Amino acid sequence: MRFLAPLLLLAATASAQQPERLDPVQRYVKVPHASTIVLEHVRIIDGTGAAPIENAYITLSDDKIAAISTTAPANSPSTVHIDLTGRTVFPGLVGMHDHLYNLSRPNLDATGASEPPLNSPELPFSSVHLYLGAGVTTLRTTGSMETYADLNLRTLIDTGHVPGPHLDVTGPYLEGPHSSFMQMHQLKDAADAKATVDFWAAQGVTSFKAYMNITRDQLKAAIDEAHKLNIKVTGHLCSVTYPEAVELGIDNLEHGFFVNTQLDPGKQPDLCPPTAGNPTLAKMTPDTPEAKALIKLLVDHHVALTSTLPVFESSDPTHLHVQPRVLAAMATPTREAYLITRNLELMRVAANPQQAAQRVQSYHNGMALERAFVAAGGLLLAGPDPTGDGGTVPGYGDQREVELLVQAGFTPLEAIKIATLNGATYLGRDKQIGSIAPGKDADLVIVKGDPSKDINDIENTEIIFKDGVGYDSQKLLDSVKGRYGQY
Ligand SMILES: [Zn+2]
Repeated sequence: MRFLAPLLLLAATASAQQPERLDPVQRYVKVPHASTIVLEHVRIIDGTGAAPIENAYITLSDDKIAAISTTAPANSPSTVHIDLTGRTVFPGLVGMHDHLYNLSRPNLDATGASEPPLNSPELPFSSVHLYLGAGVTTLRTTGSMETYADLNLRTLIDTGHVPGPHLDVTGPYLEGPHSSFMQMHQLKDAADAKATVDFWAAQGVTSFKAYMNITRDQLKAAIDEAHKLNIKVTGHLCSVTYPEAVELGIDNLEHGFFVNTQLDPGKQPDLCPPTAGNPTLAKMTPDTPEAKALIKLLVDHHVALTSTLPVFESSDPTHLHVQPRVLAAMATPTREAYLITRNLELMRVAANPQQAAQRVQSYHNGMALERAFVAAGGLLLAGPDPTGDGGTVPGYGDQREVELLVQAGFTPLEAIKIATLNGATYLGRDKQIGSIAPGKDADLVIVKGDPSKDINDIENTEIIFKDGVGYDSQKLLDSVKGRYGQY
């Protein structure tokens, strides 16, 4: 059997049989690239937390924001005018925990049991369509199952062969022994951690993520090597506590305060306790000395936290809402798996209301700690952690994260800043993206309504500008109906 390079094959098929076939990117474009585009009569939420500017004009020139004004800019015959009366524009979302795979559970049955091995198929089509369609113009993959695929996807997007956001590709999970994920390499020692970082940095990854079973010496070796290469390291940790990771020099911790294990009874060094942080979260209300000391430690060491509320939302039984658009996006087996686990969750809540109440308490603790962290000067980032689990999917999940930040007590303007400028700041890209200002990239989300008054309006996406090209949000989202989980 001979193999042709897929792109060659695609090109050959297109020219021989389907000459009318639309370009795979252009078919989703609503506002083509133009030398001057003026967005008129639009409400601007600029991403800095500042009050909205009403009835404004934004001039885009090529792929940049050229000017912002409250009076009509000078006209020229080639200017493209877009009337955005009743619409709001805010910066493209910067998704900081945005995977390109989902979780599949072989032969999941009605009791919630499935057979090993745990597998996480790559979703290079549905994930990037959902992300861009929902307004995510930059994302960090935050742990990769198929790193070569992620790197090649980045190239396909950057060269205009596939629609999608700008990708900060994270290397393969830096995982220690006893991982339950078949696709993860289990680091043997510190030297292996260093060599893994070197190898994948040379392949072009731009961030790393440590995972639940990594040991302290492996984590230290990985952080030291990544920092030599000017690459940041985040972690979803368990075997290593938050204070230990801070002392080792980590740059970012995933899942807010939800997975810290420092107060878990019987916590052994370098081992992930079976309680996986739940007792720590339950004990650590924001007014405890432990919480205050941890927040101070994180802020003093400039360690960012990524809030991933959508993936924890289902731990609060009052939050087991189902969005029809999310169910519609899922492929049938993915939808079935979600509904089974959701139903089991509801049964568990009914069977043990006391335990359920405790989990609600912990969920609210987690939210309150994120607020306290920001109040103390910490840099909070936003991402949904979409794997299909808990009904969390790309794009829609990024919007949900912003809505849940508002439920956590942030104002809509603060929540939008967390999901835009803060991510850009962490990535060191805040000169180019993350807010609406002259000179910055034209990465913009246009929604109907006013998210500064009702944050749920963030879901009403119409046009997503990326590098000055306006994509049709609905077309991108419609293109993956019933496909999330399949490809
Ligand atoms: Zn994750």
